Amino acid sequence: MTRRLYFEDAYLTCWVTQVKNKLERDEGKFVVLEESAFYPDGGGQPHDTGMLGGIQVLDVISEEDEVLHRVERFPETKEVACEINWPRRFDHMQQHSGQHLLSAVCRDLYDATTTSFHLGADYCTIDVDKPELSPEQLAAIEQEVNCHIYLNHRIVSYFVSAEEAERLPLVKPPKVTEHVRIVEMEDVEYNGCGGTHVASTGSIGMIKLLKSEKQKGCTRITFKSGYRALTEFQEQQRVLSQLTARLKTGRNELIDRLDRWEEEQKRLQAEVSELKQREDRHEARELLTKQESGMIAARYTDKSLTQLQNLANEVVAQGEVMVLLASELENKLIFAHSGSFPVSCGAFFKEHLPAYQGKGGGSNKQAQAGFANTEDLLAFFEHTRQAHLG
Ligand SMILES: [Zn+2]
Repeated sequence: MTRRLYFEDAYLTCWVTQVKNKLERDEGKFVVLEESAFYPDGGGQPHDTGMLGGIQVLDVISEEDEVLHRVERFPETKEVACEINWPRRFDHMQQHSGQHLLSAVCRDLYDATTTSFHLGADYCTIDVDKPELSPEQLAAIEQEVNCHIYLNHRIVSYFVSAEEAERLPLVKPPKVTEHVRIVEMEDVEYNGCGGTHVASTGSIGMIKLLKSEKQKGCTRITFKSGYRALTEFQEQQRVLSQLTARLKTGRNELIDRLDRWEEEQKRLQAEVSELKQREDRHEARELLTKQESGMIAARYTDKSLTQLQNLANEVVAQGEVMVLLASELENKLIFAHSGSFPVSCGAFFKEHLPAYQGKGGGSNKQAQAGFANTEDLLAFFEHTRQAHLG
């Protein structure tokens, strides 16, 4: 049975102990120690990493009474000095303790029980059994958890028997029947938990709620505690500073500025559309003067297919013609007519495009196609023009 030092002192980072066993498995090499402060995956808290006899600890798992440390290679000595990766562990302690406090406040304020907890590499989430929490309720929760942080309640842990556990107002019944580990957040809650926690709520630093969403009848709350909350604030500050500098305005005026900018954009967009339509109408009139037995065919090196579609629409609106416009810019073309011709543009494309490695199609009155290169485009353009000359 490994003596689990993290139960006795979550702040212990270095110790010297004896190697008890070495296991060679498919998943890798595992070392069992007499005493270990390495926390194994469990209870929503990820495992620790660190060094064991100068060798990297990659993974830590709990198996019955033992803690197994997956290592790159086995240590050569029986006695090994161990050290856990403290920044990683302390982060887990802040997030995990933050979760206890957040869950307690959700329960106290809105009778919302936590049904699951996820401690991810970037952020944490809890699911609470309420289909919805209003923005006001979430704001009240955030205010209350941070108030408990400033009150700096002590957090202590100890083992009790099943009978003793029954007498405590536990958050939920313990999963184990003997040696129940209690984590007590003074004036807040008694919780059966095997994880590692900070010594007092003040060390959680801060809890910031980031978003809430519906999740199968529950509400999922995303949050960050401690250094993660600070980093989040720094990151948001950085983005906000850039925005205010770029838009040359204070942060309180940002939204106003964006509203005005959006209106200006809409106005300009309408103006551009109006001008384009006018230009298309004019160009369509020009094209109509150049028709050759009911057919207009033109090539453009500076217009996109979208521009040519608008132009073709204008042409067929103004005259009884077939119109074929090619964009050498995009190697695409459009073929359309006003509706009074016994020609199906779509059917013609379907039949003839394969010979020119073209892809496309359309209806009776309009079809479009794209080509791999300008050569194919122009060959198909010419073929279509010749085929439909009255
Ligand atoms: Zn816990």
